[in-house]
Amino acid sequence: MHYNPYDNVVSTIKNAAGVLGLDNNDFVADIYPERELKVHFPVRMDDGSVRVFEGYRVQHSSLRGPYKGGVRFHQDVDENEVKALAAWMTFKCALVNIPYGGAKGAVKVDPSTLSFGELERLTRRFTAMILPLIGPDKDIPAPDVNTDARIMGWMMDTFSTFHGYAIPEVVTGKPLEVGGSLGRREATGRGVYIATKEMADKLGMSLKDARIAVQGMGNVGSVAAQLLREEGAKIIAISDVSGGIYDENGFDIDAIIEMLAENKTLKKCNLPNAAWISNDELLSLECDFLIPAALEGQIHEENADAVRAKVIVEAANGPTTIEADAILEGKGIVVVPDILANAGGVIVSYFEWVQNLQALFWNEDEINDALFQALKAAIDEVYDLHKEKGVSLRTAAYVLAMKRLAAARSTRGIFP
Ligand code: NAD
Repeated sequence: MHYNPYDNVVSTIKNAAGVLGLDNNDFVADIYPERELKVHFPVRMDDGSVRVFEGYRVQHSSLRGPYKGGVRFHQDVDENEVKALAAWMTFKCALVNIPYGGAKGAVKVDPSTLSFGELERLTRRFTAMILPLIGPDKDIPAPDVNTDARIMGWMMDTFSTFHGYAIPEVVTGKPLEVGGSLGRREATGRGVYIATKEMADKLGMSLKDARIAVQGMGNVGSVAAQLLREEGAKIIAISDVSGGIYDENGFDIDAIIEMLAENKTLKKCNLPNAAWISNDELLSLECDFLIPAALEGQIHEENADAVRAKVIVEAANGPTTIEADAILEGKGIVVVPDILANAGGVIVSYFEWVQNLQALFWNEDEINDALFQALKAAIDEVYDLHKEKGVSLRTAAYVLAMKRLAAARSTRGIFP
Protein backbone atom coordinates (compact mmCIF):
# COMPACT_ATOMS: atom_id res chain seq x y z
CA MET A 1 0.00 0.00 0.00
CA HIS A 2 1.27 3.49 -0.85
CA TYR A 3 2.20 5.42 2.29
CA ASN A 4 0.37 8.72 2.62
CA PRO A 5 2.13 10.96 5.16
CA TYR A 6 -0.84 13.32 5.26
CA ASP A 7 -2.88 10.56 6.96
CA ASN A 8 -0.22 10.68 9.70
CA VAL A 9 -0.77 14.41 10.12
CA VAL A 10 -4.54 14.11 10.38
CA SER A 11 -4.47 11.36 12.99
CA THR A 12 -1.85 13.20 15.05
CA ILE A 13 -3.99 16.36 14.99
CA LYS A 14 -7.14 14.45 16.03
CA ASN A 15 -5.29 12.64 18.79
CA ALA A 16 -3.90 15.87 20.27
CA ALA A 17 -7.27 17.62 19.93
CA GLY A 18 -8.80 14.76 21.95
CA VAL A 19 -6.23 15.15 24.73
CA LEU A 20 -6.81 18.93 24.75
CA GLY A 21 -10.58 18.44 24.77
CA LEU A 22 -10.94 20.77 21.78
CA ASP A 23 -14.28 21.17 20.08
CA ASN A 24 -14.29 20.11 16.41
CA ASN A 25 -14.90 23.79 15.47
CA ASP A 26 -11.62 24.77 17.14
CA PHE A 27 -9.36 22.59 15.02
CA VAL A 28 -11.24 21.35 11.95
CA ALA A 29 -9.54 24.00 9.75
CA ASP A 30 -6.07 22.77 10.84
CA ILE A 31 -6.76 19.53 8.98
CA TYR A 32 -6.74 21.31 5.60
CA PRO A 33 -4.03 23.38 3.93
CA GLU A 34 -5.21 26.96 3.34
CA ARG A 35 -3.81 27.15 -0.19
CA GLU A 36 -2.17 24.74 -2.67
CA LEU A 37 -0.44 25.62 -5.92
CA LYS A 38 0.63 23.00 -8.45
CA VAL A 39 2.78 24.17 -11.34
CA HIS A 40 4.21 22.73 -14.54
CA PHE A 41 7.07 24.56 -16.16
CA PRO A 42 9.51 24.05 -19.04
CA VAL A 43 13.30 24.07 -18.66
CA ARG A 44 15.74 24.19 -21.57
CA MET A 45 18.19 21.30 -21.07
CA ASP A 46 21.87 21.45 -22.10
CA ASP A 47 21.24 19.26 -25.16
CA GLY A 48 18.69 21.76 -26.48
CA SER A 49 15.61 19.69 -25.56
CA VAL A 50 12.79 21.05 -23.40
CA ARG A 51 11.67 19.14 -20.28
CA VAL A 52 8.56 19.95 -18.31
CA PHE A 53 8.78 19.69 -14.50
CA GLU A 54 6.07 19.49 -11.85
CA GLY A 55 6.28 21.59 -8.68
CA TYR A 56 4.25 22.58 -5.65
CA ARG A 57 3.90 25.25 -3.02
CA VAL A 58 1.48 24.35 -0.25
CA GLN A 59 0.56 26.95 2.37
CA HIS A 60 -0.90 25.13 5.33
CA SER A 61 -1.53 27.91 7.85
CA SER A 62 -1.03 31.65 8.32
CA LEU A 63 -2.79 31.83 11.67
CA ARG A 64 0.28 32.90 13.64
CA GLY A 65 2.26 34.74 10.95
CA PRO A 66 3.63 34.50 7.39
CA TYR A 67 3.87 31.06 5.80
CA LYS A 68 7.30 29.48 6.27
CA GLY A 69 8.90 26.29 5.01
CA GLY A 70 11.52 24.67 2.85
CA VAL A 71 11.75 23.68 -0.79
CA ARG A 72 12.60 20.06 -1.63
CA PHE A 73 13.94 18.69 -4.91
CA HIS A 74 13.21 14.95 -5.09
CA GLN A 75 12.04 12.57 -7.79
CA ASP A 76 9.40 10.93 -5.56
CA VAL A 77 7.59 13.98 -4.14
CA ASP A 78 3.84 14.18 -4.52
CA GLU A 79 1.05 16.41 -3.33
CA ASN A 80 0.35 14.49 -0.10
CA GLU A 81 4.00 14.60 0.92
CA VAL A 82 4.19 18.37 0.40
CA LYS A 83 0.88 18.86 2.26
CA ALA A 84 2.22 16.86 5.21
CA LEU A 85 5.53 18.74 5.22
CA ALA A 86 3.65 22.07 5.14
CA ALA A 87 1.44 21.06 8.09
CA TRP A 88 4.42 19.89 10.13
CA MET A 89 5.92 23.38 9.66
CA THR A 90 2.78 24.98 11.14
CA PHE A 91 2.94 22.80 14.27
CA LYS A 92 6.71 23.18 14.57
CA CYS A 93 6.61 26.99 14.45
CA ALA A 94 3.75 27.08 16.96
CA LEU A 95 5.56 24.63 19.27
CA VAL A 96 8.77 26.67 19.41
CA ASN A 97 6.65 29.82 19.56
CA ILE A 98 8.00 31.74 16.57
CA PRO A 99 5.62 34.02 14.66
CA TYR A 100 5.20 31.96 11.50
CA GLY A 101 2.64 29.71 9.90
CA GLY A 102 3.62 26.70 7.81
CA ALA A 103 4.31 25.96 4.14
CA LYS A 104 6.42 23.71 1.94
CA GLY A 105 7.45 23.57 -1.69
CA ALA A 106 8.87 20.91 -3.94
CA VAL A 107 9.93 20.08 -7.47
CA LYS A 108 9.64 16.51 -8.70
CA VAL A 109 13.22 16.02 -9.94
CA ASP A 110 16.36 14.10 -9.09
CA PRO A 111 18.80 17.03 -9.08
CA SER A 112 21.82 14.71 -9.30
CA THR A 113 20.81 14.12 -12.95
CA LEU A 114 21.00 17.84 -13.79
CA SER A 115 24.02 19.91 -14.79
CA PHE A 116 24.85 23.05 -12.80
CA GLY A 117 23.22 25.22 -15.48
CA GLU A 118 20.09 23.05 -15.67
CA LEU A 119 19.74 23.18 -11.87
CA GLU A 120 20.01 26.98 -11.91
CA ARG A 121 17.45 27.36 -14.71
CA LEU A 122 15.05 24.94 -12.99
CA THR A 123 15.38 26.82 -9.67
CA ARG A 124 14.84 30.23 -11.25
CA ARG A 125 11.84 29.12 -13.31
CA PHE A 126 10.24 27.40 -10.30
CA THR A 127 10.74 30.60 -8.28
CA ALA A 128 9.04 32.58 -11.05
CA MET A 129 6.13 30.11 -11.09
CA ILE A 130 5.48 30.47 -7.34
CA LEU A 131 6.22 34.22 -7.36
CA PRO A 132 2.61 35.28 -6.66
CA LEU A 133 2.65 33.34 -3.39
CA ILE A 134 6.03 34.14 -1.86
CA GLY A 135 7.41 37.33 -0.29
CA PRO A 136 9.09 38.47 2.93
CA ASP A 137 5.79 39.16 4.69
CA LYS A 138 3.82 36.44 2.84
CA ASP A 139 5.72 33.18 2.52
CA ILE A 140 9.44 32.63 3.10
CA PRO A 141 11.10 29.51 1.57
CA ALA A 142 14.26 27.81 2.90
CA PRO A 143 16.42 24.76 2.06
CA ASP A 144 15.28 21.16 2.55
CA VAL A 145 16.27 17.81 0.98
CA ASN A 146 18.57 18.34 -2.01
CA THR A 147 18.44 22.14 -1.81
CA ASP A 148 21.09 24.34 -0.23
CA ALA A 149 22.37 27.89 0.25
CA ARG A 150 23.35 28.25 -3.42
CA ILE A 151 19.80 27.40 -4.51
CA MET A 152 18.40 29.90 -1.96
CA GLY A 153 20.76 32.50 -3.46
CA TRP A 154 19.23 31.90 -6.92
CA MET A 155 15.71 32.14 -5.47
CA MET A 156 16.59 35.41 -3.73
CA ASP A 157 18.13 36.80 -6.93
CA THR A 158 15.15 35.78 -9.08
CA PHE A 159 12.61 37.30 -6.68
CA SER A 160 14.68 40.47 -6.32
CA THR A 161 15.13 40.81 -10.09
CA PHE A 162 11.34 40.66 -10.63
CA HIS A 163 10.86 43.42 -8.06
CA GLY A 164 13.76 45.59 -9.21
CA TYR A 165 15.66 45.77 -5.91
CA ALA A 166 17.38 43.45 -3.42
CA ILE A 167 14.98 41.57 -1.13
CA PRO A 168 17.17 39.15 0.87
CA GLU A 169 14.45 38.48 3.46
CA VAL A 170 12.33 36.53 0.92
CA VAL A 171 14.27 33.32 1.67
CA THR A 172 16.35 32.00 4.56
CA GLY A 173 19.31 29.65 4.49
CA LYS A 174 20.96 31.98 1.95
CA PRO A 175 24.71 32.36 1.41
CA LEU A 176 26.32 34.75 3.92
CA GLU A 177 27.33 37.07 1.05
CA VAL A 178 23.70 37.99 0.34
CA GLY A 179 22.32 38.27 3.87
CA GLY A 180 22.48 34.69 5.16
CA SER A 181 22.91 34.10 8.87
CA LEU A 182 25.88 32.66 10.68
CA GLY A 183 24.94 29.29 12.13
CA ARG A 184 21.99 28.66 9.78
CA ARG A 185 23.63 25.85 7.78
CA GLU A 186 24.38 23.96 10.99
CA ALA A 187 21.19 24.98 12.83
CA THR A 188 19.00 21.93 12.23
CA GLY A 189 21.79 19.48 13.10
CA ARG A 190 22.74 21.61 16.11
CA GLY A 191 19.11 21.49 17.24
CA VAL A 192 19.10 17.69 16.89
CA TYR A 193 22.26 17.60 19.01
CA ILE A 194 20.66 19.86 21.66
CA ALA A 195 17.47 17.75 21.71
CA THR A 196 19.53 14.54 22.09
CA LYS A 197 21.64 15.98 24.89
CA GLU A 198 18.71 17.48 26.79
CA MET A 199 16.69 14.29 26.49
CA ALA A 200 19.68 12.21 27.61
CA ASP A 201 19.91 14.40 30.73
CA LYS A 202 16.21 13.98 31.48
CA LEU A 203 16.40 10.20 31.04
CA GLY A 204 19.55 9.89 33.16
CA MET A 205 21.66 8.84 30.15
CA SER A 206 25.05 10.23 29.19
CA LEU A 207 26.33 11.16 25.74
CA LYS A 208 29.83 10.09 26.74
CA ASP A 209 30.39 6.79 24.89
CA ALA A 210 26.69 6.65 23.96
CA ARG A 211 26.23 4.47 20.86
CA ILE A 212 24.48 6.38 18.11
CA ALA A 213 23.25 5.38 14.62
CA VAL A 214 22.43 8.10 12.09
CA GLN A 215 20.42 7.47 8.92
CA GLY A 216 21.17 10.17 6.31
CA MET A 217 24.44 12.09 6.04
CA GLY A 218 23.08 15.27 4.49
CA ASN A 219 22.93 18.75 5.93
CA VAL A 220 21.09 17.65 9.08
CA GLY A 221 22.53 14.19 9.81
CA SER A 222 26.16 15.13 9.24
CA VAL A 223 26.14 18.16 11.56
CA ALA A 224 24.22 16.28 14.27
CA ALA A 225 26.72 13.38 14.07
CA GLN A 226 29.66 15.79 14.20
CA LEU A 227 28.42 17.64 17.30
CA LEU A 228 27.41 14.45 19.12
CA ARG A 229 30.83 12.96 18.47
CA GLU A 230 32.49 16.12 19.81
CA GLU A 231 30.46 15.51 22.99
CA GLY A 232 32.04 12.05 23.37
CA ALA A 233 29.40 9.87 21.70
CA LYS A 234 30.36 7.00 19.40
CA ILE A 235 28.71 7.23 15.99
CA ILE A 236 28.61 3.49 15.33
CA ALA A 237 26.63 3.61 12.07
CA ILE A 238 25.80 6.11 9.35
CA SER A 239 24.14 5.84 5.98
CA ASP A 240 22.98 7.68 2.92
CA VAL A 241 20.89 6.74 -0.11
CA SER A 242 23.70 4.42 -1.31
CA GLY A 243 23.72 2.29 1.89
CA GLY A 244 25.22 2.29 5.37
CA ILE A 245 28.42 1.52 7.26
CA TYR A 246 28.96 0.13 10.73
CA ASP A 247 31.89 0.18 13.15
CA GLU A 248 31.43 -0.65 16.83
CA ASN A 249 34.33 1.71 17.71
CA GLY A 250 32.66 4.71 16.11
CA PHE A 251 33.51 6.68 12.96
CA ASP A 252 35.66 9.77 12.47
CA ILE A 253 32.76 11.88 11.20
CA ASP A 254 34.89 14.89 10.19
CA ALA A 255 36.97 12.68 7.87
CA ILE A 256 33.84 11.12 6.34
CA ILE A 257 32.23 14.52 5.75
CA GLU A 258 35.38 15.60 3.91
CA MET A 259 35.26 12.46 1.74
CA LEU A 260 31.56 12.94 1.07
CA ALA A 261 32.13 16.51 -0.12
CA GLU A 262 34.29 15.09 -2.90
CA ASN A 263 32.64 11.72 -3.64
CA LYS A 264 28.96 12.65 -3.04
CA THR A 265 27.86 9.18 -1.75
CA LEU A 266 29.27 6.81 0.89
CA LYS A 267 29.56 4.00 -1.65
CA LYS A 268 32.09 6.06 -3.62
CA CYS A 269 34.21 6.87 -0.53
CA ASN A 270 37.31 4.87 0.31
CA LEU A 271 36.34 3.24 3.63
CA PRO A 272 38.39 0.01 3.85
CA ASN A 273 37.53 -0.74 7.52
CA ALA A 274 33.80 -0.18 7.35
CA ALA A 275 31.31 -3.04 7.37
CA TRP A 276 28.57 -2.32 4.84
CA ILE A 277 24.97 -2.58 6.04
CA SER A 278 21.61 -1.72 4.52
CA ASN A 279 19.46 1.18 5.71
CA ASP A 280 17.05 -1.32 7.25
CA GLU A 281 19.90 -2.98 9.15
CA LEU A 282 20.98 0.42 10.46
CA LEU A 283 17.47 1.08 11.79
CA SER A 284 17.49 -2.21 13.72
CA LEU A 285 20.94 -1.86 15.35
CA GLU A 286 21.19 -2.10 19.10
CA CYS A 287 22.15 1.41 20.21
CA ASP A 288 21.34 4.19 22.67
CA PHE A 289 20.12 6.77 20.17
CA LEU A 290 18.81 6.22 16.65
CA ILE A 291 18.67 9.38 14.56
CA PRO A 292 16.69 9.07 11.32
CA ALA A 293 17.83 12.09 9.26
CA ALA A 294 16.77 11.15 5.72
CA LEU A 295 13.16 10.97 4.56
CA GLU A 296 9.67 10.32 5.94
CA GLY A 297 8.12 6.89 6.49
CA GLN A 298 11.43 5.08 7.16
CA ILE A 299 10.27 3.40 10.40
CA HIS A 300 7.02 1.67 9.53
CA GLU A 301 4.72 -1.16 10.52
CA GLU A 302 7.00 -3.83 9.03
CA ASN A 303 10.33 -2.82 10.59
CA ALA A 304 9.34 -1.00 13.84
CA ASP A 305 9.38 -4.17 15.89
CA ALA A 306 13.02 -4.74 14.93
CA VAL A 307 14.14 -1.35 16.31
CA ARG A 308 16.47 -1.85 19.28
CA ALA A 309 17.40 1.75 20.11
CA LYS A 310 16.56 3.15 23.55
CA VAL A 311 15.68 6.59 22.16
CA ILE A 312 14.77 7.78 18.65
CA VAL A 313 15.47 11.42 17.87
CA GLU A 314 13.54 12.35 14.72
CA ALA A 315 15.86 14.62 12.76
CA ALA A 316 13.92 14.02 9.54
CA ASN A 317 10.35 15.17 9.10
CA GLY A 318 7.88 12.32 9.60
CA PRO A 319 10.36 9.39 9.69
CA THR A 320 7.95 7.28 11.82
CA THR A 321 4.51 6.23 10.60
CA ILE A 322 1.53 6.27 12.95
CA GLU A 323 1.46 2.45 13.01
CA ALA A 324 5.18 2.32 13.87
CA ASP A 325 4.71 4.94 16.57
CA ALA A 326 2.27 2.66 18.41
CA ILE A 327 4.66 -0.31 18.11
CA LEU A 328 7.59 1.74 19.44
CA GLU A 329 5.51 3.04 22.34
CA GLY A 330 4.55 -0.54 23.19
CA LYS A 331 8.25 -1.47 23.27
CA GLY A 332 9.01 1.42 25.64
CA ILE A 333 11.19 3.27 23.12
CA VAL A 334 11.25 7.03 23.69
CA VAL A 335 10.58 9.03 20.51
CA VAL A 336 11.61 12.70 20.42
CA PRO A 337 9.24 14.02 17.74
CA ASP A 338 10.35 15.75 14.56
CA ILE A 339 8.53 19.03 15.22
CA LEU A 340 10.72 19.41 18.32
CA ALA A 341 13.95 17.62 17.38
CA ASN A 342 14.50 19.36 14.02
CA ALA A 343 13.08 22.79 14.92
CA GLY A 344 16.57 24.31 15.18
CA GLY A 345 16.52 25.03 11.44
CA VAL A 346 13.40 27.15 11.43
CA ILE A 347 14.40 28.87 14.67
CA VAL A 348 17.61 30.15 13.07
CA SER A 349 15.72 30.86 9.82
CA TYR A 350 13.55 33.15 11.93
CA PHE A 351 16.71 34.82 13.32
CA GLU A 352 18.00 35.24 9.74
CA TRP A 353 14.74 36.92 8.66
CA VAL A 354 14.80 39.22 11.70
CA GLN A 355 18.42 40.17 10.96
CA ASN A 356 17.48 40.90 7.31
CA LEU A 357 14.47 43.03 8.30
CA GLN A 358 16.63 45.04 10.69
CA ALA A 359 19.71 45.02 8.42
CA LEU A 360 21.69 44.27 11.57
CA PHE A 361 23.67 41.07 12.01
CA TRP A 362 24.40 38.98 15.08
CA ASN A 363 27.56 37.02 15.79
CA GLU A 364 27.59 33.23 15.83
CA ASP A 365 27.68 32.93 19.63
CA GLU A 366 24.60 35.14 19.95
CA ILE A 367 22.78 33.00 17.38
CA ASN A 368 23.76 29.67 18.95
CA ASP A 369 22.83 30.94 22.43
CA ALA A 370 19.44 32.19 21.25
CA LEU A 371 18.85 28.87 19.44
CA PHE A 372 19.68 26.94 22.59
CA GLN A 373 17.34 29.06 24.74
CA ALA A 374 14.41 28.77 22.33
CA LEU A 375 14.79 25.03 21.83
CA LYS A 376 15.45 24.22 25.47
CA ALA A 377 12.28 26.07 26.51
CA ALA A 378 10.24 23.94 24.08
CA ILE A 379 11.96 20.69 25.13
CA ASP A 380 11.25 21.40 28.81
CA GLU A 381 7.63 22.31 28.09
CA VAL A 382 7.05 19.15 26.03
CA TYR A 383 8.74 16.92 28.58
CA ASP A 384 6.81 18.41 31.51
CA LEU A 385 3.47 17.98 29.74
CA HIS A 386 4.36 14.41 28.74
CA LYS A 387 4.98 13.62 32.41
CA GLU A 388 1.94 15.53 33.66
CA LYS A 389 -0.57 13.99 31.22
CA GLY A 390 1.09 10.60 30.76
CA VAL A 391 1.10 11.01 26.96
CA SER A 392 3.90 10.45 24.44
CA LEU A 393 6.34 13.26 23.70
CA ARG A 394 4.75 13.55 20.23
CA THR A 395 1.26 14.01 21.63
CA ALA A 396 2.57 16.51 24.20
CA ALA A 397 4.31 18.51 21.43
CA TYR A 398 1.14 18.61 19.31
CA VAL A 399 -1.00 19.55 22.30
CA LEU A 400 1.24 22.55 23.02
CA ALA A 401 1.28 23.60 19.36
CA MET A 402 -2.46 23.19 18.93
CA LYS A 403 -3.18 25.18 22.06
CA ARG A 404 -1.32 28.15 20.54
CA LEU A 405 -3.04 27.69 17.17
CA ALA A 406 -6.48 27.46 18.79
CA ALA A 407 -5.77 30.61 20.83
CA ALA A 408 -4.76 32.46 17.65
CA ARG A 409 -7.88 31.28 15.86
CA SER A 410 -10.24 32.31 18.63
CA THR A 411 -8.50 35.71 18.90
CA ARG A 412 -8.62 36.37 15.16
CA GLY A 413 -12.10 34.88 14.71
CA ILE A 414 -13.34 33.33 11.49
CA PHE A 415 -13.81 35.66 8.52
CA PRO A 416 -16.40 36.88 7.57
P1 NAD B 1 19.93 16.48 2.45
O1 NAD B 1 19.45 16.44 1.05
O2 NAD B 1 21.05 17.40 2.80
O3 NAD B 1 20.34 15.01 2.94
C1 NAD B 1 19.49 13.91 2.87
C2 NAD B 1 20.30 12.67 3.23
O4 NAD B 1 19.43 11.53 3.26
C3 NAD B 1 21.39 12.33 2.23
O5 NAD B 1 22.51 11.80 2.92
C4 NAD B 1 20.74 11.26 1.37
O6 NAD B 1 21.67 10.42 0.71
C5 NAD B 1 19.96 10.51 2.41
N1 NAD B 1 18.87 9.72 1.87
C6 NAD B 1 18.00 10.07 0.89
N2 NAD B 1 17.15 9.06 0.64
C7 NAD B 1 17.48 8.07 1.49
C8 NAD B 1 16.99 6.76 1.71
N3 NAD B 1 15.95 6.29 1.00
N4 NAD B 1 17.58 6.01 2.66
C9 NAD B 1 18.62 6.49 3.37
N5 NAD B 1 19.15 7.70 3.21
C10 NAD B 1 18.58 8.47 2.27
O7 NAD B 1 18.63 16.80 3.33
P2 NAD B 1 18.58 17.46 4.77
O8 NAD B 1 18.41 18.92 4.62
O9 NAD B 1 19.67 16.92 5.63
O10 NAD B 1 17.17 16.89 5.30
C11 NAD B 1 17.05 15.61 5.92
C12 NAD B 1 15.72 15.56 6.68
O11 NAD B 1 15.68 16.62 7.64
C13 NAD B 1 14.48 15.75 5.82
O12 NAD B 1 13.42 15.00 6.37
C14 NAD B 1 14.17 17.22 5.96
O13 NAD B 1 12.82 17.55 5.70
C15 NAD B 1 14.52 17.41 7.43
N6 NAD B 1 14.78 18.80 7.82
C16 NAD B 1 15.72 19.54 7.19
C17 NAD B 1 15.94 20.85 7.60
C18 NAD B 1 17.03 21.71 7.00
O14 NAD B 1 17.28 22.79 7.54
N7 NAD B 1 17.72 21.29 5.96
C19 NAD B 1 15.19 21.39 8.64
C20 NAD B 1 14.23 20.60 9.28
C21 NAD B 1 14.05 19.31 8.85
